[in-house]
Amino acid sequence: MKTLIVHAHPEPKSLNSSLKDIAVSTLTAAGHEVQISDLYAMKWKAAVDAEDYGPDASIPLKVAADSGRAFDAGTLTPDVRAEQEKLLWADTIILQFPLWWYTMPAILKGWVDRVFTYRFAYGVGEHSDTKYGERFGEGTLAGRRALLSVTAGGPESHYTARGINGPIEDLLFPIQHGILYYPGIDVLPPFVLYGTDHTTDEDFPAIAQAWKQRLLTLESTEPIAFRRQNFGDYEIPSLWLKEGLEPAGRNGFGLHVRA
Ligand code: FAD
Repeated sequence: MKTLIVHAHPEPKSLNSSLKDIAVSTLTAAGHEVQISDLYAMKWKAAVDAEDYGPDASIPLKVAADSGRAFDAGTLTPDVRAEQEKLLWADTIILQFPLWWYTMPAILKGWVDRVFTYRFAYGVGEHSDTKYGERFGEGTLAGRRALLSVTAGGPESHYTARGINGPIEDLLFPIQHGILYYPGIDVLPPFVLYGTDHTTDEDFPAIAQAWKQRLLTLESTEPIAFRRQNFGDYEIPSLWLKEGLEPAGRNGFGLHVRA
């Protein structure tokens, strides 16, 4: 495997950084190639602004159009181009982050905002009355697989169907479906550690062992069965799921996962 690890934690001695280090050592020892984007260490610029498009930026700024034009012209900033090249190099992408306010830390969202540009990650393929682009199962990053490795402070019961935070698969849907699957990446079931604010040093060996086990079985893990946009499951042009395809008892985000 060629694995890109995108890591988002400010503290090198944190649990998240330890998980990142374990991923590097485990995958490397198993003969895989690894690249890391350690966003805090890189002092990653998280906010999209006109500086991203230099003197060619339109006035008023049009982020999608400007980013697509810069992508086509090869004039995106070197930091963004380097991350796009890493994504094209990788066959496996791991996002390592703590759950902050139900989602990824802002620096990681800012990596997505700047790197997943128009014409690279969205605005790809035919857009017409009968086709809404190549996305959700197709796209620039098709053929790749991704895994979220997430730590949550709250206990697992808070993230179940009746739990106060809602099911973890719903919280992660915007990242797994809306960001990763959108440009074509298949998404593996996440590795989630719960109750990490009460994790102790004594818990760590078992956590490390479970994480290594996941890493060493990535190649044989089946992705989440998200429905593909352009292969008959959705009405055209509304992109409504066709009547009768909803699995029994499923609603909400779960409609977009095959039974
Ligand atoms: P750390 O604090 O670095 O580590 C936790 C424990 O792991 C340590 O005390 C230590 O005992 C152990 N440990 C770490 N590394 C090692 C090692 N190498 N060897 C042995 N033991 C080790 N939680 C939610 O559930 N939902 C939310 O919406 C949410 N929002 C948040 C928003 C913010 C802004 C913040 C700051 C926190 C939020 N939290 C939330 C809690 C957050 O998810 C957890 O604090 C975080 O996931 C813990 O990960 P960490 O890497 O920061 O852990």
